[in-house]
Amino acid sequence: YQVPNWSGGWFRVSEKGAVEVTPSPGLHAPLRSIVDEIVERGESLPVILRFPQVITGRVKHLNESFQAAIQEYGYGGHYQGVFPIKVNQRRVVVESVAAAGYDYAHGLEAGSKAELALCLAQKMHPDALLCCNGFKDDGFIKLALWGRTLGKNVVITIEKYSELDRILKQAKALGVRPAMGVRFKLHARGSGQWEESGGDQAKFGLNAYELLRVVERLREEDMLDTLVMLHTHIGSQITDIRRVKVAVREATQTYAGLVAAGAQLKYLNVGGGLGVDYDGSKTTFYASMNYTVKEYAADIVYTVQEVCKARSVPDPVIVSESGRALTAHHAVLIMPVVDVTGPTRDLEDLAPADENSHQIVKDMEEILVNITGRNYRESYNDAVGDKQTLHNLFDLGYVTLPDRARGEALFNAILRKIAKLIQHEKYVPDELEDLQKVLADKYICNFSLFQSLPDNWAIQALFPIVPLDRLNEKPTRQATIVDITCDSDGKIEKFIDLRDVKATLPLHEPGDRPYYLGAFLMGAYQDVLGSAHNLFGKVSEAHVTVRPGGRFNIDLFVRGQKARRMIESMGYEEPMLRDAIEDQADAALKTKTLAPGQEQELLEDYGEELLGYTYLEYEES
Ligand code: PLP
Repeated sequence: YQVPNWSGGWFRVSEKGAVEVTPSPGLHAPLRSIVDEIVERGESLPVILRFPQVITGRVKHLNESFQAAIQEYGYGGHYQGVFPIKVNQRRVVVESVAAAGYDYAHGLEAGSKAELALCLAQKMHPDALLCCNGFKDDGFIKLALWGRTLGKNVVITIEKYSELDRILKQAKALGVRPAMGVRFKLHARGSGQWEESGGDQAKFGLNAYELLRVVERLREEDMLDTLVMLHTHIGSQITDIRRVKVAVREATQTYAGLVAAGAQLKYLNVGGGLGVDYDGSKTTFYASMNYTVKEYAADIVYTVQEVCKARSVPDPVIVSESGRALTAHHAVLIMPVVDVTGPTRDLEDLAPADENSHQIVKDMEEILVNITGRNYRESYNDAVGDKQTLHNLFDLGYVTLPDRARGEALFNAILRKIAKLIQHEKYVPDELEDLQKVLADKYICNFSLFQSLPDNWAIQALFPIVPLDRLNEKPTRQATIVDITCDSDGKIEKFIDLRDVKATLPLHEPGDRPYYLGAFLMGAYQDVLGSAHNLFGKVSEAHVTVRPGGRFNIDLFVRGQKARRMIESMGYEEPMLRDAIEDQADAALKTKTLAPGQEQELLEDYGEELLGYTYLEYEES
């Protein structure tokens, strides 16, 4: 499961084979024990475990990485990050970042009016930045200006030229001196899935000509001092550090160019993009990154300093808008395995072929008996042909249902035997490459992919998936994962691997004890992008603090959304639903489809489900 490779030290596997969270040296707690306690309290799964200590650790790590680089290179400015709350606006997340970042004057970034309203209410260091990005209307701008009167260091980013006039107008009307940033469309691009956020065709930002027009316009207004920041962003999850360096060089040259044109800039904002190594491969693959946080900080500080020195410009305050890298690690989705299905295993349970069986079934049985290491390829092709014939004959009425059942079971048995024969072969014929996937079991897990891991569905994002315990026991099955939505897309068929992407995940045979899988690194974007497919709602959450001695506290348990909330979000009202059921029950009593005296029980059960969790609730979990 590659835990040491992707966990960044925030998780480990204990000697007993259990996954533990390790928020700081000396602190560790097994995830299984936390889940067991939640279940003992009578709460239902699935659940998201949140570890605010991990967020604190990530905020410290980022800030200290920049501080160390600044010290090492003798850089003339300092670093001040901002957390883009769109990555995860959950209260516990924003408050944890704000608290951990206070001493570093780590600020926040808002991309909409609602996000700004949320950010303005946070306690922040007086120097901490509150960057306002995204397209803005007058209401957004006014709210940002009020923020300055509240003593917050609000900087309004000009995303397109026409916003400048709007900001100046509103500022004059309110009598507030604004602080502005301007977003520049770098020609440099990121790497990986969000490459198109940068480059000349990017959605946001001004070109070089427009940047100079902003400076001229502000000079005319005698407001040059209000332009304080140059802002850039080349996309999220940048996999290749060389792209970061190229972009930062271009950004710093632009910064120096604006200063030469008379701007009195103070901040250089390099945007987001600091990656997360989801597969632990440390490569430029889209789910990975070929650099560490320390290298990221060092390369930015070094590049900015180098350009500023050459252009005789004072070193700016470096700002980054890292989001994913601060929050991904803190959350783990716990999914109970509720069932396993797969190609028929129990050939013995089926009646053996006899003289009445169709010839095609007898042929398949012969193939199974005679497979060897020499003829498996031929046997495979014969079996595929026979299975096709079996189905054709069934459609025409020549093969009975029991014969079809036996034929299909034989086919699966042939594939299993071949898979075993070729498992150590270096060369596998093309037609057999998918064998593992075809033979894989489906582990049905109590979760919705669309609610909890939407990026896996939408953009094939990979998240490490690991059983919470039994890791000192060799897994005996190869599996894919399916969720409980009625959507055939609700499945996971791609898993992390150091060299490639794997089509199956090795898992243990579930035993008498509930078997739980954890989906890790899902604390960035997933919580907020999730959707209510099939009305599966928000998952319950446990906020957990790890204490010395392997102990932990569940500080807060927030129950997931109730069915009623989900139904009401679609425009229905609870009394209307209850009335409709009551009317139908009255009618059913009259037609006697409902027995006398059962009406009350029916209504109680209905009411209970309205107030219940939207996920499966089994007693054993
Ligand atoms: N800043 C801006 C302008 C963004 O568009 C984004 C997201 O793409 C971010 C910051 C956050 O990026 P990340 O989560 O990769 O750090």
